[in-house]
Amino acid sequence: MDQLRTRYNSLSFRGRLLALLVAVSLIQATVAAYTFFQLQSKPADQRIQAQLNAGISGASPVIDARIAASSARLEQLTADPSLKQAIDAKNWAMVTSLLAASAPSDAADTAVDDTVDTTAGAYVTDSEGKVVSGTRPAGALIEQDGRTSARVEVEGALSATIHVPVAIDRAFLVAQVAQYVPKGVDIFVADEHTVVSTDAKVSASADPPSGLRSGQHTIQLGGEEQVINARPVVDGSVLLGAMIPEQVAAKQRHSGLASLWGFIALLTVLGLFVSWYVTNAVAQALRKFSDIARDLAKGNLARRIPVTGDDEVAGLATSFNDLAENLELRIDGLIDAEARMRRQVDLFGEALANATAVGDMLQAVCSLAMESAHASHARFWTIDDDGRYEHAASIGLRPSDTEPCGLEKAVAVRNTSVRSQGEPHWLVVPSRMMDGQIVGLLTLVSTGDDFSADDVHVAERIAVQAAVALDNARLHERLRLQATRDGLTGLPNHRSLQDELTKRLAEAYAGDMPVGIAMMDIDNFKRVNDTYGHPIGDEAIKAIGKTLSHGIGGMGMVGRYGGEEFVVIMPGCDSDTAMRIADRLREDITHIEVPLDDGGILKLTASFGVANVDQQHPGTRVDNAELLHQADAGMYNAKRTGKNRVELAGPDTQAIEMSEVEKAKLAARERGDVAGEQAAAAALETNAPTDPAPYDPFDLAA
Ligand code: GH3
Ligand code: MG
Ligand code: MG
Repeated sequence: MDQLRTRYNSLSFRGRLLALLVAVSLIQATVAAYTFFQLQSKPADQRIQAQLNAGISGASPVIDARIAASSARLEQLTADPSLKQAIDAKNWAMVTSLLAASAPSDAADTAVDDTVDTTAGAYVTDSEGKVVSGTRPAGALIEQDGRTSARVEVEGALSATIHVPVAIDRAFLVAQVAQYVPKGVDIFVADEHTVVSTDAKVSASADPPSGLRSGQHTIQLGGEEQVINARPVVDGSVLLGAMIPEQVAAKQRHSGLASLWGFIALLTVLGLFVSWYVTNAVAQALRKFSDIARDLAKGNLARRIPVTGDDEVAGLATSFNDLAENLELRIDGLIDAEARMRRQVDLFGEALANATAVGDMLQAVCSLAMESAHASHARFWTIDDDGRYEHAASIGLRPSDTEPCGLEKAVAVRNTSVRSQGEPHWLVVPSRMMDGQIVGLLTLVSTGDDFSADDVHVAERIAVQAAVALDNARLHERLRLQATRDGLTGLPNHRSLQDELTKRLAEAYAGDMPVGIAMMDIDNFKRVNDTYGHPIGDEAIKAIGKTLSHGIGGMGMVGRYGGEEFVVIMPGCDSDTAMRIADRLREDITHIEVPLDDGGILKLTASFGVANVDQQHPGTRVDNAELLHQADAGMYNAKRTGKNRVELAGPDTQAIEMSEVEKAKLAARERGDVAGEQAAAAALETNAPTDPAPYDPFDLAA
C-alpha cells in the first residue's frame, strides 16, 4: 500500500490525474458489469423455471388421462359381480382371466396407449399384500387407494385388493408425453423405487436419488447435474418432474453475457479515452498557464492568457490576467515612484549643493518633504544650542500661522513623529541628529488625504537628512563667519571690507552713485598698551568697534582694517555726508569710557580720513587700493594736524611734511636706536601742547 502511495506520489500531475480518472472509469465499469449481470441472470432463471413448468404442464394431462383410465377400469372391475365372487372364492385363476377380459383393447384405447400393456398392469393382492392374480407391472407405478386400487371385503374383513396402477416407463414418456413438452426439457416420473425419464441416461439409473423432492432444485440425475422442477402426483408418493441439464441452464443464464462483456469492454475503452482526453485538456490548460507565468517571471508583463468561454478555466484565466495587469500597473507605479524619488533626490542634492545659507537648505527640505510625503504645506523650525526655536523655512505657511499646527503644538509633541487624529491633517516630525539631539521640527499639512504610514516614514527620513544638513550648514556658517569676521570685535575683517568695497564701488560706478569711506586709527594707542597692558588695549578696541558698528547701523559697513585701524564704508554718501557721519563717529568715540583695574576710566580719541568717489578727477575710476590710500592720506593729515580730527582727502591731497624731530625719530626707529627714538618722542611730547599737529610719524610707520 505504502509502495503504491510512493509510486503514485512520484507521478507527474498529468500521470496522477490519468491514474485517478482510469481508476474511476474502471470502478464504474465494474459496478455496471455487476449490475448488468444481476439483471441478466434473473430473467434467465425465470425462463428456465417457465420451461420446466411448461414441461410439467404438458405432461400432467397425459398422466391424468392415464389415471382416469385406470380409475374407469377399476370401477368397471369392482362393479363386476363375477370378479367379486371369484375373489370371495379365492379362485385366482378365474380372477386372472376376468382381469384380462377387462383389459381395454378397442380402438379408443389405442389412442391412449399404443405401447404400454395395461392389461398386464392390473393385479390382485390378498389380505397380506401378496400378488395372487395378474402381474405387478414394471416402471414407475402410480397407485392410490380409491382411484387405482379397491379393497374387496368379505363379511367386513379385507379379502383382497384390486390394483389397476398407472405404470410409466420410458417408452410411454417418449411416445405419449414428450410431444407436449418444450424442446430441451426432459420429463421424469419417480416412485419410491424407480425413476423413468425421456432422458435415456436417467431411465437407465434405476434408483431415484435420495434428495429428489417436489419443487425446484438442482440434483445429480443420470450422472449429470440437473435443474429440476417436480410435483407430486396423486397421493404424493410419486413425483412428476421436468428437468434441464445444469450445463444447459448455465449456458442459457450466460447467454447474452458475451454482448454484456462487449458492452463493458466498450465502456472501459470509452472511459480510458475520456480519461486521456480530460488529462490532456487539463494538462494543456495548465501548460498554457505555466508558460505565461514563466514569461511573467521573466518580466514580460504584457502577456495574457486568451479567455474563451465562461467556465472555471476561463475564470482562472481572467483572474490570472487581472493579476498580471495589476502587477504591471504596480511595477509601472514603482518605476514612476523610483524616477520621482531619483528626481527629488537630485533636486535635493542640487539644492543642498547650492544652498550657502541654512534658510535656503531648509527651503529645499520643505519642498522635498512636501512632494515626497504628499503634503500641501510645509514648515521647518530650527532649534539652536540654547533651545530657542526659529521659523527657518516654509511653503504655504507664514511664521505667524498657528493653524493647523503652530509652534506651540509642534513643541508639545516634539520628541516623536505625531499625526493629527482627523482633519485638518498635520504631521510633526523631529529632525534628530545621530546622537539623538533634536535640531529642528518639520511640520507638514495636507489639505487632501491623511498622511499614510509611508508618508510618515519618508518625512522621518528627510528630517534625519535635514538634521545632518543643518549641522553641516551651521558648521559651514561658523567657518564662513570665522573667515569673514574679526575674532576680537566680531566685525567684518580686512578681507570682507575689501569685498564689500569692491561691490560698492562697482555699484557706485554702475549707478552713478556716490560712495564714501572713512579710515580711522586710534590716537596714541601704543601708550595705552604700554601704560595699562594689552588686555585693556583689547577692551578699548572692542569698545570702539561696538561704538562704530552701533553708530553706522544699517547705513553701511564697519570693519576692522587691521590692528587698531577701522574702515567705514558708506554707500550712497557724498563727501559732505560722509564727513558728517565720520565726525559723528569720532564724537561718539570720545564718549567711550573703558573701566580700568584701579577703578579709573580710560578715555579715547581717534583720527579719521575720509575719501569719496565724488572727489575723483572727472572720467577716472578709482579702485579699492586707490580710495583706501586717499582715506589713509586724510587720516595721516588728521594725525599731523592734532589728532581726534576728520580730514577729507582726494587724489590731489598732499601729505603734510614731517618736522625734523619727527624725521629723527623715524630714522632712530629704523636704526633700532631705542634711546634716540625715545628722546625724539620726548621732544615731540614736549612740543605737543604748542604743536598744532602732534603726529608721531614713527608709530604710523610701524
Ligand atoms: P598715533 O596716535 O600716531 O596713532 O600713535 P599710536 O601710539 O597709536 O601709534 P600707532 O598707531 O602706530 O600704534 C599702533 C599700536 O597699536 C601698535 C600696537 O602695539 C598696538 N596694537 C595694534 N593692534 C593691537 C591689538 O590688537 N591689541 C592691542 N592691545 N594693541 C594693538
Ligand atoms: Mg595705527
Ligand atoms: Mg594709532
